[in-house]
Amino acid sequence: MSRFFSSKYSNLVPYTPGEQPKDMKYIKLNTNESPFPPSEKAIAAALEEAKKLQLYSDPDCTDLVKEFCEVFGVEKDEVLFTNGSDEILNFAFMAFCDDDTPAIFPETTYGFYPVFAELNHVPYKEIPLREDFTINIEDYFNAGGTVFIANPNAPTGIALTPAEVRAIVENNPDNIVVIDEAYVDFGTESSVPLVKEYDNLVVTQTFSKSRSLAGARLGFGIAKKELIQDMNTIKYSTNPYNVNRMSMAAGLGCLKDEEYTKANCQSIIESRAFAMEELRKLGFEMTDSKANFIFVKHPEYSGAKLQAELKKKGILIRHFSKPALDEYNRITIGTKEQMQALIDAVAELLGR
Ligand code: PMP
Repeated sequence: MSRFFSSKYSNLVPYTPGEQPKDMKYIKLNTNESPFPPSEKAIAAALEEAKKLQLYSDPDCTDLVKEFCEVFGVEKDEVLFTNGSDEILNFAFMAFCDDDTPAIFPETTYGFYPVFAELNHVPYKEIPLREDFTINIEDYFNAGGTVFIANPNAPTGIALTPAEVRAIVENNPDNIVVIDEAYVDFGTESSVPLVKEYDNLVVTQTFSKSRSLAGARLGFGIAKKELIQDMNTIKYSTNPYNVNRMSMAAGLGCLKDEEYTKANCQSIIESRAFAMEELRKLGFEMTDSKANFIFVKHPEYSGAKLQAELKKKGILIRHFSKPALDEYNRITIGTKEQMQALIDAVAELLGR
């Protein structure tokens, strides 16, 4: 830390992204990216748009929003695009949390939530999960602050039902509830339709996972127009051009190729079922993940060791050192071939 760094941030512990090593070619199952390339339509649109990079991007994302509204069945003032969904989540912390309105989220969830709270100097309360890693929805009723819930949750992959989400939203008439649906497309029912009914719900999603655009950084929030306006105030006070031209074009290309997205999600769902079954046969225990990752532990092989040994074999998975998660690893679901390579490597480590 330099002697000039503001004391406002001197205690800030930043989020640690999964490693992106360049030393050799790995099977990358550590950062929940898609194993599939972006849609051809997305690539072509982004390449064409590169020719106009001397011009700023459209702050209103007009063309993207128009197509999006048709696909998602929302009005244009009910959506806001951002630089990845991390940005809309940060906007929600900025817009809807303060000294009197703490952020409230599960103790085990997306590691960025406490960082956003710290960054914005807002108090936060972490609510423990049940022992089986499920969320007790009643813990969030009349929460007395802004609720953030990843659905499905990370890194467990466990999803709430639409009725459970509705109950949380209904039992917080005076609080905002943010449902982070980064992994919704892999088998969870979305809460987007609830936005029409409730003025206290924000749903966030991303093009990073199901639409293979992690490197483009494109996310969005859906909510009633008053809430979108609030977050737009934050956006226009930080960076009106938060979505760049090529990402906007790529996003539009994806929306014109939803069949491709659906086919890729289906393929991930099948690979997930295959990997879960094979890992169970090898003695692994796991949560009921509905995401593009699984959360597994082995009674005879430590989480940290498995991660280190697989890395030596050219396979990256994610280990979290937090004590409650220490026995586990989070493994991104890749192609069936990648899952087979993982299973072969694991079997060898276990001496099977
Ligand atoms: N929410 C959750 C639960 C995540 O795991 C991630 C991915 N790290 C994000 C949001 C943010 O993803 P992105 O910024 O790529 O949209």
